[in-house]
Amino acid sequence: MIDLETVRIVLVEPSHPGNIGASARAMKTMGLSQLYLVSPRFYPHAEASARASGADDVLAKAVLCRDLDEALSGVTLVLGTSARARNLEWPTMTPRQAAGAIDSEPQSQIAFIFGRERSGLTNAELERCHYRVHIPSNPEYSSLNLAAAVQLICYELSIRSSHALSDTDYPESIDHARHEHEAYADQVDVERFFVHLEQALEDIDFLNPDNPRQLMRRLKRLFNRTRLFHTEVNLLRGILTAAQRQARLARDR
Ligand code: SAH
Repeated sequence: MIDLETVRIVLVEPSHPGNIGASARAMKTMGLSQLYLVSPRFYPHAEASARASGADDVLAKAVLCRDLDEALSGVTLVLGTSARARNLEWPTMTPRQAAGAIDSEPQSQIAFIFGRERSGLTNAELERCHYRVHIPSNPEYSSLNLAAAVQLICYELSIRSSHALSDTDYPESIDHARHEHEAYADQVDVERFFVHLEQALEDIDFLNPDNPRQLMRRLKRLFNRTRLFHTEVNLLRGILTAAQRQARLARDR
């Protein structure tokens, strides 16, 4: 059973206040209430309140964030929604599969990230996501209105919450190993690890900053495939620090 209180809906730089209100409404109809707004163009705004109609409580407690880091603080599972196919494929799920995966992982704090109306999410933002979620749609016209996309995601989550009236046929969820005693890493710590990794790879002359190619992108994909534990992030950073120390010693010799 999904606890809807653990799910954040994060809107990145929405430009139309109407979409913010409509998203709040979409959430409330499905029993969600954690709305995070990253640098909205206009907020608060009369149009947002009007479109929220009865969901002004969700709007009133929306968390305003300066950047994505702030919105992902405390989050252990990040899902990025996207209407587009990218050059380098990322593990992708349907909303239904995503709800199944979340259902099998009751402890996590989860964020669904939604992109800008015009341009969606940047590659850098999508690289912070463990999974991409794509709403199956017309390949020739695949981009839903922002609040409509929020509605569909919230619907699939609510089906697997205590709001659901009955069990229905769901495909097998993506299989997650369950670990009773280990906590997943905070996304902000994982991001710091990636920064450290990039610096360390430069220090040991593996990464050439003048010609980085796709190295960091591939490494992020690799690590995001495995859902790092908190203890593992510390371990990896310890290894990086030791490698950097050796490289410094070798240089000074
Ligand atoms: N032109 C943009 C479309 C942005 S639509 C693009 O190509 O990415 C605004 C947001 O709604 C998207 O960033 C995404 O979060 C969500 N969205 C729209 N259509 C979607 C779909 N088919 N699947 C998943 N999310 C979708």
